[in-house]
Amino acid sequence: MISNEETLRRSEFPFPPPTSKPIPALAQPMKDYMQCTFETAGRVCQYICGTIERIQKHCREEHRWKSKNKGGRQKKRGNTNQAAPWRTGVHCQRFFKQGPKSGYFEVQNEEASPRSNPPRIASRADQFKAAKQELEAALRRAEAEERRVIKEAEEAREPNSWLRRVGWAAHLAGLDRTELKKWIEMPDEEEPDLEILCRAFDWMIQHAQFTTVQEVVSQAALFEANRKEANVEPQKPFDSWMDITTVKSYTHVWKQVLCYVFRAEDEEVKKRPAYRLRGRQSIAIQQVRAIIQEFQEWMQDQAINDADNDDESDREIEFIGRI
Ligand SMILES: [Zn+2]
Repeated sequence: MISNEETLRRSEFPFPPPTSKPIPALAQPMKDYMQCTFETAGRVCQYICGTIERIQKHCREEHRWKSKNKGGRQKKRGNTNQAAPWRTGVHCQRFFKQGPKSGYFEVQNEEASPRSNPPRIASRADQFKAAKQELEAALRRAEAEERRVIKEAEEAREPNSWLRRVGWAAHLAGLDRTELKKWIEMPDEEEPDLEILCRAFDWMIQHAQFTTVQEVVSQAALFEANRKEANVEPQKPFDSWMDITTVKSYTHVWKQVLCYVFRAEDEEVKKRPAYRLRGRQSIAIQQVRAIIQEFQEWMQDQAINDADNDDESDREIEFIGRI
């Protein structure tokens, strides 16, 4: 069952087709109601109500219909005006008395024999078609919705064996793809702490690149750094140079991982992946956050009582370094 009104409003369930028998759990069907037959974009409107005034108002407001019957009240029931864009004698029920899905839907007239009225059968066929289309559309929406949620069974279909091995599907089971994708977006001014974190990471990489050169650590160290197997002598020294595009694309992935981990820590338990940080890892995250906060406070103080803003970024560099 749908528990709150907002979910109900957003969910689109098709009403039962007009050939359905009345639903016993609902109130007795209303008899001789009117149903709008306006067609827009291949779909019949199907709005149902109980009075001529209402259906006229509906047709005027929803379909810009103009009544040619000016003046003189019409009879409330049994209107025989064929030009009217609605049909009469509709038996109907509704699920709710008020609220977003309180509209009436047609049900079978159990008292009348179904074949007594040929024109109505034709229009019922139309309605059945419309209901079928609606049902199919609802089904497609449900399928799309289901694809958003990650399921463990998906792992079996994973063609990349490394991805299979890391067990991403079990790790992310039950979570919403669209929500998760937001976790790997680069932070903007709404997440200043993560912005600082990413900046610090960029600086760290740059610093590492400038450090792993012959002039700083000697060539022997660079050879060692390039060793991939313990018993195989490296043929070349490690080269920290990369063109900026490569640096950017590599660090981007790392920053995504960082943001993902930090954002996941802020999420409530049932909406986050099923891993838990070890003690030292969560302490490390807390420490980083504390330094970031300290840095932010320091920057605010700077902005307030510092008019001569030479680049006294030594402190800034120190902070970033600590992060
Ligand atoms: Zn209508």
